[in-house]
Amino acid sequence: MFRFKGSLQFKFMSAIICIVVPLLGIIFLWQGVTEERQAWTQVINQARVLTRQIILTRQWVSDSQGLFLRQDTPGAQGGGKFYSDLLTTQRGVMQRFTPSMVTKQLSLYSYRQNLYRFRLAGIAPMNPENRPDEFETAAIKSFAQAANTEYYSLADHNGEAVFQYSVPLYVDETCLSCHKNYTSGTVSGCLSIHLPAQHVLDSLSRGKITLFMSALALIVLTVMTLYFLVHYLVLRPLGTLEAVAEGISRGEFPANIHIGGSHEMNRVGQALSSMSAKLEEGRNRLEEEVHKATSDLALANEELKTLDRLKSEFLATMSHELRSPLTSIRGGLDYLRRTESAPDRQNYLHIMDKNVSRLTHLVTDIFDITRIEAKKIDWNFAAADMAELVGEIVEIMGPLAQEHGLRLCVQPSGPMVALADVERIEQVIVNLTDNAIKYSPNGGAVDFALQSEGNEIRIQVRDHGPGIPPGDREAIFKKFHTTPSSGRGEKPGGTGLGLAICSQIVRAHGGRIWVEDNEGEGSVFTFTLPAAKE
Ligand code: ADP
Repeated sequence: MFRFKGSLQFKFMSAIICIVVPLLGIIFLWQGVTEERQAWTQVINQARVLTRQIILTRQWVSDSQGLFLRQDTPGAQGGGKFYSDLLTTQRGVMQRFTPSMVTKQLSLYSYRQNLYRFRLAGIAPMNPENRPDEFETAAIKSFAQAANTEYYSLADHNGEAVFQYSVPLYVDETCLSCHKNYTSGTVSGCLSIHLPAQHVLDSLSRGKITLFMSALALIVLTVMTLYFLVHYLVLRPLGTLEAVAEGISRGEFPANIHIGGSHEMNRVGQALSSMSAKLEEGRNRLEEEVHKATSDLALANEELKTLDRLKSEFLATMSHELRSPLTSIRGGLDYLRRTESAPDRQNYLHIMDKNVSRLTHLVTDIFDITRIEAKKIDWNFAAADMAELVGEIVEIMGPLAQEHGLRLCVQPSGPMVALADVERIEQVIVNLTDNAIKYSPNGGAVDFALQSEGNEIRIQVRDHGPGIPPGDREAIFKKFHTTPSSGRGEKPGGTGLGLAICSQIVRAHGGRIWVEDNEGEGSVFTFTLPAAKE
């Protein structure tokens, strides 16, 4: 669908121009046409009156069988020599003037006084001067053939406009006395009149210019008036509204908003003022509530921190205190297992040994994590070759792997020197290896790989165990999280702290740890450490 784009002002002005300009144009065009028609109607009416008078005069002369004029008077000059009807009277020699001669004399008088010209034209004139010209021939034709009662046109006469008007002349009884070949009632010719029309054309063109200028002035005035009205009544108040709205969105709440322009806009301003007041009130209330909630939260947070600290302290103290008795128990158990030969007692001792191991493991893990979280560990960062460390761990844990029929394979690599606390990173690698052995099926392999990438060293432990479901891959690095997966169908039996400790240690080094799928069979644990600068 067509969408008219642009500012409100542009749209408004376009609409006004599209409506006002053609409308005013049509009105003024109509006015111009009407004026022109009126002017020409006036000219035609003038011509009608004149011809009527001339025809009446001619009729009167015709009815009187001609006029006798004294031959030596100025009015009889140029009367023509076609008639020899002379009458000698006491006043002098009188010549008879026929209707056409009288008409000609009147025409000469009018022409001399620069008024208008008229003349008679006949189809078969006795006087050759009365032969019809082009216009008159066309007029006679239209009278005879189409029975028209008038004929007119505008012509150019030596650069001056002339209005030519013609009416028909019919043969009557009096004509037959001279024009023997005429038939009564038929068109004998025409009376044509030439009115100067240049002044009409000039006045019309002056009128058109005046009309055009008035139209232009009216259009400009209308458009400008509407422009200023739109600007002051709509756009300026809208601008003020926009500024107020922006202010409110910045958190400024003006008390008395005056928009101006019109009553309606002022009412909008009042509504905006009350909205702004309510918003300010709401914000203040909200701020107070947030402030109160924040202080409550801060208080609760402090309490929680204290509780957490107390819990960590308790756990640290407890795990520390538990380690010594556990060591004594383990020593006693070791002694008993070496000295006791009865198989049923050996069996009990084995179960006790297994549970003491688990308890020791748990206590050590709790001890480690609480110390890391309480930032009570002194880190000994130093440059160390991780390839060498992995090699040593593989050697130490080889027998455990063999117990489960597993091989520990290290991909050969050059020295991979990282900035690390060796003791802690050893703990990480041992933990990952321990898990890999624990969850791998018998007879497989656990692979170790080391890479140097940019500024970091990457260490990977890959197993072929059950793998870790995608939904658990982040959670297993959180405390006490275990998943019910095991390569040998046993319960994991761990504390769920091993990977959390690994994650804390790696993060303390500025590295990352994550787990991925080992192409559908097993998991790949990867962690990074910062490479030591040479
Ligand atoms: P735990 O110390 O109890 O072994 P961890 O934090 O080391 O706990 O491991 C958390 C959980 O992650 C385990 O319960 C186990 O389900 C899963 N997990 C860890 N390593 C592996 C692995 N290599 N293969 C499959 N599951 C594993």
